[in-house]
Amino acid sequence: DLAPVRRALLSVSDKTGLVELGQALSDRGVELLSTGGSAKALRDAGLLVKDVADVTGFPEMMDGRVKTLHPGVHGGLLGLRDNDQHMAAMTAHGIKPIDLLVVNLYPFEDTVAKGADYDTCIENIDIGGPAMIRAAAKNHAFVNVVVDVEDYLPLLDELAANDGQTTYAFRQRLALTAYARTGAYDAAVSTWMADTLNAKAPRRRAVAGKLAQTLRYGENPHQSAAFYLDGSNRPGVATATQLQGKELSYNNINDTDAAFALVSEFLPKDGPACAIIKHANPCGVARGETLKDAYMRAFDCDRTSAFGGIIALNSTLDGETAEEICNIFTEVVIAPGAHQDAKDIFAKKKNLRLLTTPGLANPAEAGLMLRQVSGGYLVQDKDNGRLDLSDLKVVTKRAPTDQELADMLFAWRVAKHVKSNAIVYVKDGATVGVGAGQMSRVDSCRIAARKSQDMADALGLAAPLTQGSVVASDAFFPFADGLLTAAEAGATAVIQPGGSMRDDEVIAAADEAGLAMVMTGMRHFRH
Ligand code: 5GP
Repeated sequence: DLAPVRRALLSVSDKTGLVELGQALSDRGVELLSTGGSAKALRDAGLLVKDVADVTGFPEMMDGRVKTLHPGVHGGLLGLRDNDQHMAAMTAHGIKPIDLLVVNLYPFEDTVAKGADYDTCIENIDIGGPAMIRAAAKNHAFVNVVVDVEDYLPLLDELAANDGQTTYAFRQRLALTAYARTGAYDAAVSTWMADTLNAKAPRRRAVAGKLAQTLRYGENPHQSAAFYLDGSNRPGVATATQLQGKELSYNNINDTDAAFALVSEFLPKDGPACAIIKHANPCGVARGETLKDAYMRAFDCDRTSAFGGIIALNSTLDGETAEEICNIFTEVVIAPGAHQDAKDIFAKKKNLRLLTTPGLANPAEAGLMLRQVSGGYLVQDKDNGRLDLSDLKVVTKRAPTDQELADMLFAWRVAKHVKSNAIVYVKDGATVGVGAGQMSRVDSCRIAARKSQDMADALGLAAPLTQGSVVASDAFFPFADGLLTAAEAGATAVIQPGGSMRDDEVIAAADEAGLAMVMTGMRHFRH
């Protein structure tokens, strides 16, 4: 399965290491072909290079749009060396085999990242490069394709180890890298166009990713994992600055993302807010007079679960909040900035990671969500649904008070970030009971109420904090039982989408229990 490397085509935008590679190949007696800029760089270094234009019989034209798109190149890459007809065709048309292709593409992603205008981005879509890469990768039975400067040294090592030849396994690995690159490249083009045209439809979007970090492991230690950036550069865990603490794990990244998305629902102009997350679900969310107050109120929702949690803040971390956070073990704190005194306090906690972002996420922004199922992907728009008071429809005899309305909207915004079936009790701008991820809604209602009772017992309160609270449900109550459980726990008002066959029954039960209820007409499933 060894194949010799006698002729190479080098065509690279990033010229890093090009001369060294060309020199090493030349020293091995490999004939070098190259395109304009690459050929010049090699020649300037004193190497003997043949121009691709001499192979194709055409000059590079149309601003470089057409350089290598020619049977003289593609035949040399694609012809099967062990197929008599292919070899005869090559001889008949004067096509010589190309055994090694070294290409890195026009820097499309970097051009977009720099904020270039539309036409400049279009001009930076490489055409001939991906065509050659795909051709060479297809013919990896015989041909080597290198798309990454990082693979120059391994290639030279391989040639050295095999007397100027490469093994099939090596070429296979190069082909795999090559298709990953062309796949990601076109996905980047697609993402840029979709963003530029503000296209919402998932079927017109591809998935792009740039490897940011290889993770120690995935959700469990026996799963390997990596973190990819989608290039959108949005504020969040992907773009945050880590000021201290060890590397984030897979679960940390997932939970930090959930925490930051949730706290970003609460604008700093409406006051400080804090969310504490465990296993991607909130175990406490609150506003406060101060940031410290917000943290303490969030903590008081479920002190047991908050241990080892991830904390997101909607405003700059200050010293007194940092001090308070240090009282228990916390994995990660993410905030749009941190004051020096807070940093100094955290510096004593070596294991605590502190991440800062340039701002909050925009919960109303469009985006894409991907989930893998066996044999495919589910793709959908991000849930950026957001309601205001004017969207709420009162359906009970009793109208909610202003305080109840404010709390209901708060609870609704939290419920969007809780795994279904989600039930969220809120009182005075703080969650006092969260029921998450249950298979029946009534169980979520019960669990949230029970946890609230547990907290009341632990804090020595006369009654659970659900007394006089409001409750949000991420989807309609299919029966009155969940609602009645909430009423029993002391909830006085309910926010839910409505739309059940039994809405009338549920509304009647609410009226009977003296509850105020509003319907949103919007659902926030999160599975
Ligand atoms: P050079 O700097 O050598 O002039 O150009 C190298 C770049 O041209 C590489 O990024 C390569 O992928 C790209 N390239 C090679 N052939 C073609 C072609 O036929 N059309 C276009 N648009 N780009 C090409």
